[in-house]
Order: sequence, then C-alpha cells, then structure tokens
Amino acid sequence: MDIPKRMKAAVLYGFNDVRVEERDVPSPGPDEALVKVNACGICGTDIKVITHGLPNQPPFGDFIIGHEYAGTVAALGDTVDEFQIGDRVTVEIHKGCGRCKNCIMGHYTACLNYGNIGKGHRANGFTANGGFAEYAVNHVNTLYKLPDNISFDESTTITTAGTCIYGIDMAGGYIPGDTVAVLGPGPIGLMSVQLCKALGAGKVILTGTRDERLELGKKLGADYVVDVRREKAVEKVMELTDGLGADLVLEAAGGDTALQEALEMTRKGGKISILAFYKGPITADISIAVRNGINIYTVRGEGRMSVGRSLSLMAQGKITGKPLITHTFPVEEVNEALKTFAERIGGAMKVVVHP
Ligand SMILES: [Zn+2]
Ligand SMILES: [Zn+2]
Repeated sequence: MDIPKRMKAAVLYGFNDVRVEERDVPSPGPDEALVKVNACGICGTDIKVITHGLPNQPPFGDFIIGHEYAGTVAALGDTVDEFQIGDRVTVEIHKGCGRCKNCIMGHYTACLNYGNIGKGHRANGFTANGGFAEYAVNHVNTLYKLPDNISFDESTTITTAGTCIYGIDMAGGYIPGDTVAVLGPGPIGLMSVQLCKALGAGKVILTGTRDERLELGKKLGADYVVDVRREKAVEKVMELTDGLGADLVLEAAGGDTALQEALEMTRKGGKISILAFYKGPITADISIAVRNGINIYTVRGEGRMSVGRSLSLMAQGKITGKPLITHTFPVEEVNEALKTFAERIGGAMKVVVHP
C-alpha cells in the first residue's frame, strides 16, 4: 500500500479549538499496525475532551482527537502476524498496560497504569493520538477484523455496543425472560435495548424524553417506551411489572434524578448497571439499595473484549448501528460535525467523520 508522508488530522489546540492540519503519518511500533482511517464517529466523550479535557491528555497542539474509528490496515509492525495489509478493521479504545492486576483479569478499561504510555497503556483519542486523521497507529490488542457485512460507518458504533455488553456482563449477564428497564434513549440506551432483546429479555422498557428517539427505540425492539414528560417512569415500570420492579436497570441517562429513579424501579434483589457519566455529584437515596438488596454496578467503556463480542452480534444482524448514524462530514468540516453532534442539530445522534 502506498503510504504518503503527510496526512490531514484534526488537532486539539486548546479547549474548544480544533484545527485540521497536515501532520506526519505515524509509523507503527513492533506490536502495532498503521490503520488508514475510513470513518471516525463522534461521541459524548469527545465533547468532554474538547471542552474541558480528561486526565492524561497529550499536550495541546500535538493531540489528534477521535476514538471511535474504523479503517484498513496499511502497514504492520515487525511482530504482527494477526493481521494483513488490506484487512478491514475496527478499533476499541483501551489498550491496557497488560501487566497490572486489572489488565490481567480483563478489566483493562480500569488499567492501574491508565495514561502511563511508558508502561504500555494507551487510550487512542484520550491519552494518545486518535482517529480524526487519515492514519492512526493501533496496538494489535485494539484491532478487530471487520466482517464483510458491516460497513466502516456502522462499525464506528461498536464501542457503544461494547460498553452496553460490558455493563450487562458486569451485572451478571443474566437476562433471558427478565424485565430490563433502560433509562435514556441515546446511542447507549438504544444499543442496550437491542442487546437485551438479543439476549432474550422478557420485557424491555425504555424511558426518555425525545419522541424520535423513543420511536426509534420501539423500532429497535423496546416492548414499552415511557415518555417521562407525560408519565412517571417509576410508576410505569412498577405497573408493567405487577408492582415488583425491573430485574435489571441499565442507567444510560446520566441526569440528576436518574439514579434515584433507577433505585425506585428496581425489583428487590435486582440490579442496576450504570453506563452513564454524570455532569457532577448527584443525590440518590442509597438506603433503598441497602434495604432492598439491590446491587449497583458500573463500567467504564468496553472491557473484556466486549467489542469483539458486539461485532459478532452485529454481523448476525442481532444489533444494528445504522439507524443511530444521522450525519456524516468530511474531516475538513470536523468543527461543523462536532457542533452538529453537541447541539443535536437536525436530530443528530451519531455523527461520523470521513478522513
Ligand atoms: Zn466514545
Ligand atoms: Zn493495566
């Protein structure tokens, strides 16, 4: 494959200052591959990176952002025989150090050496360069071969699906026949609905505020949708479960009252898995959980190879990312793309950038 010396890349110069510039094409280390990026999605975490930053970010002026990307293998490091040049691949964000207790146990999104590049940790688009560029370098651990029936664009939603799978997995993974309430009809919530149905849920109840998203939730398999502007989510879930509450609540809303609602709508002995990040501290009566034997789980991103497992489900048609993608932009218009996503212009949900 002909690899140029220079490439276009979206570089973070300061908070709310993203510039598309020419950069050197990186070269892969021994365990890495060079990926020619075909598509890179925008997610809420990108907006956090741009507006106020995350810990261990590379310095302004050097940092190429973007973490949900897919492309074609263009060059291989010396030791790499897992992939070939020309392979279509999608990426996961977190490459753990591989030497700490959490990494060894598969929980590499909670790597104890998070941000320590010297010890082998990387999170492309967070602590290392990412995918709003024509080329990116990835460790082999973060690459997955893309099945033929999944497009580059669709595969940018795979870390979204991976996060949901990881959240379900950590909560014990027991779904068949159970009632699951999903709070928040954003990309994570809508993916969760599909996954719970694919995993044999009895009833899936989706709650939220936006009509189009709730409507889409129904199309993607939610048995009931609750518009919380018109109905009380807790009351409705209790009504639909004969007063018992949901067996599992997936909290993907992240609002101030979401955890309290989750506590009130979970069955005694049930589980809550928190997939959302909150803007700041929130108040919730945790005694409800203690009194009712409710266990609360959290996940950060997509550990335990959840991206690979999600790809398998996507290839089988059990989940789809296509309806989540509402807009695409060329990388030169990355600022327009970010604005469209952040302000939800034109009902934007997942916005994909093409380098
Ligand atoms: Zn993301
Ligand atoms: Zn680690």
